[in-house]
Amino acid sequence: MNVVKINDKIMGVCPYCQEKVSARVIKKHILRRDKCECPLCLKIIYVCRYPGCHNYASGGCVYDDELCPTCAKDIANSSGFIIKNTVKVATAAVAVVVATAFAKDKMK
Ligand SMILES: [Zn+2]
Ligand SMILES: [Zn+2]
Repeated sequence: MNVVKINDKIMGVCPYCQEKVSARVIKKHILRRDKCECPLCLKIIYVCRYPGCHNYASGGCVYDDELCPTCAKDIANSSGFIIKNTVKVATAAVAVVVATAFAKDKMK
């Protein structure tokens, strides 16, 4: 288990200002990643999900990046990991919609 102090994040590269920063935690999440703020440009950032990477990923209002720009690029280039997963999720969503439509038809 990693013991990380609440307000001290490891130094990592901010995706916005490209500086090495120690992000401030503004919201502590147990299941999800901590919401952090870059101390220099004040943007919302998250710690990269890639094991062993301490850089930061940009946060969005709809979707938060899982990986820092460097890791995202590496993975997209090497294995198509992100594209494959996106297709899987899209397929699952379509299946649910179809199943729901069927169920509604039967109710009539
Ligand atoms: Zn920054
Ligand atoms: Zn990373």
